[in-house]
Amino acid sequence: MGDGRDRPIPKAKRVLSREAMNVKVTHITDCTTLHNGVKMPWFGLGVYLTKAGEEVENSVRWALQHGYRSVDTAKLYDNEEGVGKAIRESGIPREEVFVTTKLWNTDQGYDNALRAFDASRKRLGMEYVDLYLIHWPGTRLYKETWKAFEKLYKDGFVRAIGVSNFNIHHLEDILADCEFVPMVNQVEFHPYLTQADLLAYCQSHQIQLEAWSPLGRGKVLADETVVRIAEAHRKTPAQVLLRYDLDKGVVTIPKSVHENRIRENADIFDFELTTEEIATLDSLNRNERVGPDPDQFDF
Ligand code: NAD
Repeated sequence: MGDGRDRPIPKAKRVLSREAMNVKVTHITDCTTLHNGVKMPWFGLGVYLTKAGEEVENSVRWALQHGYRSVDTAKLYDNEEGVGKAIRESGIPREEVFVTTKLWNTDQGYDNALRAFDASRKRLGMEYVDLYLIHWPGTRLYKETWKAFEKLYKDGFVRAIGVSNFNIHHLEDILADCEFVPMVNQVEFHPYLTQADLLAYCQSHQIQLEAWSPLGRGKVLADETVVRIAEAHRKTPAQVLLRYDLDKGVVTIPKSVHENRIRENADIFDFELTTEEIATLDSLNRNERVGPDPDQFDF
């Protein structure tokens, strides 16, 4: 033990391997089971910066036609109406599509959160939402907000509640006196920002990690290591980045408004990365963000 080399890694610091998690994702509708038993698809469509109206309606319609069964929106995106409309018009039963929306920062606090949720639900035109997330921790008000989320959950308006952009210390703060542990934490995640400590922490508390900007908003696609692994599998760099998430037990929600890319991004269920390839992608980590840092962020 003297030099520390053979000291065991504390449990919460170790990211579980795919084998240890026993995760095998082979179909677009495959789901992770959240700690409350609710099933959430491993894969879905993101609609950040997708314009309200025709653009979002087309994106969601194409995604559903290509087998997607999960859509991630937010009050901030200003396109909840279009998401709801496209889902209704698809003819797919409501209970077969997993819908996530998020509470914006200016709506934090107990009463504000209840009002904001009701407004989101009405814009979506839905009786319930599958997953409601606190978009950013922002200020200390997130604990009050969480109490409102717990009420919405107990009242049956949301099937699952979670957070987004929460670091370990934010989660510890919530866990200290919550009634329900968040079921999901949605954070920026890609090979340039692998969030190993946060992933391990979430795994050890049965909080499902979900990747936003899984393609690094396009910036990781040209990485030569990603390109080389893609060539080896006869897949595209985007497909490798998305498969990386699934193989790490992370839910992923790539965004595109183009039908060909929406289809391409979903064509990831017929291959798997090797353990070595996952380790190689992990080693690209530079703690580099395309979005804001939750600890330096106060809007
Ligand atoms: P992303 O990593 O999904 O990248 C999207 C961009 O990559 C597209 O605009 C397009 O330019 C490009 N792209 C998509 N598919 C491609 C393909 N096959 N080939 C080449 N280029 C392709 O980035 P994102 O939109 O920031 O993240 C995904 C989703 O995550 C969002 O739409 C949103 O739903 C969610 N999100 C959440 C937060 C949060 O704070 N919770 C923040 C950002 C995003």
